[in-house]
Amino acid sequence: MLIFHDPQCAGYGAAMRPEQPARVTRTAAHLRATHPEWTWRVPAATVSDETLLLAHTHAHVKRLTQSRDFDADTPFFPEIAGHARRAVGAALEAARHALTARTPVFSLMRPPGHHATADRAMGFCYLNNIAIAALAAQRDLGAARVAVWDFDAHHGNGTEAILHAHAATPTGSSAFFFASVHQFPAYPGTGARDLGPRTRNWPVAPHTPRTEHLAALRASLDAVVAFAPDLVLVSAGFDAYARDPLTAMTLEHHDFATLGRWLGETALPAAALLEGGYADDLPLLIDAFLSAWENTPRLA
Ligand SMILES: [Zn+2]
Repeated sequence: MLIFHDPQCAGYGAAMRPEQPARVTRTAAHLRATHPEWTWRVPAATVSDETLLLAHTHAHVKRLTQSRDFDADTPFFPEIAGHARRAVGAALEAARHALTARTPVFSLMRPPGHHATADRAMGFCYLNNIAIAALAAQRDLGAARVAVWDFDAHHGNGTEAILHAHAATPTGSSAFFFASVHQFPAYPGTGARDLGPRTRNWPVAPHTPRTEHLAALRASLDAVVAFAPDLVLVSAGFDAYARDPLTAMTLEHHDFATLGRWLGETALPAAALLEGGYADDLPLLIDAFLSAWENTPRLA
């Protein structure tokens, strides 16, 4: 397992907010202790404006440096633009590793990204790490077909909007596929239905039994596999956990191991990026997912 992590990502925010530095500091400490054989790398790349503009507007990139809050969930922090760029950089390097080494790779960074739209920071997200990585993989890495599998408990509205806009104007044989499984109704209120054959949503009602939620997750991953992607990018959020403070879902610790095993069994090049997950057990949930992913015997 290769983990991209920059300790600087804990350098903003406070414990009074759910999306807090301890999410990554506690996870890093746990994973280093339980998996001393895993490789850690600080993402080196600085991200150009040109790359950010694959997914975002010029005005949005500029707005990240202006000291006004974006919304109640998404405050302005000094240096948030730098933090957001580092999370994008880790996503880009993780995608590159997935395509070149074809071994499991995880970006343990914050801020998360899947709610950020082309022109708006929201829901703890400032830049859409995964959408930028998907677009850059197509532009720079020869990945014509890129799929995003989003199992965060919240709809990946930003990723959906950005990639769906690109799906409407396909260039050559290139294409994106977006699959999100999420609580509905819930924040941000989108994701009730598919937007098209390659923009798919599996809304799951609050308190749905975990076996039904898992069936939706299985169906969503089957759809990703059927798309035959060159690269799978995973919006790995762990807030569908039964004891997450922000949601009303029912997944247990071992269900995240199941998701990791399923991902490994696809034998597709894949990179996972941390999105949400706010329970004290977050380090254990991430460990379960990554360990199962890494330990899956490859079918191909
Ligand atoms: Zn979430």
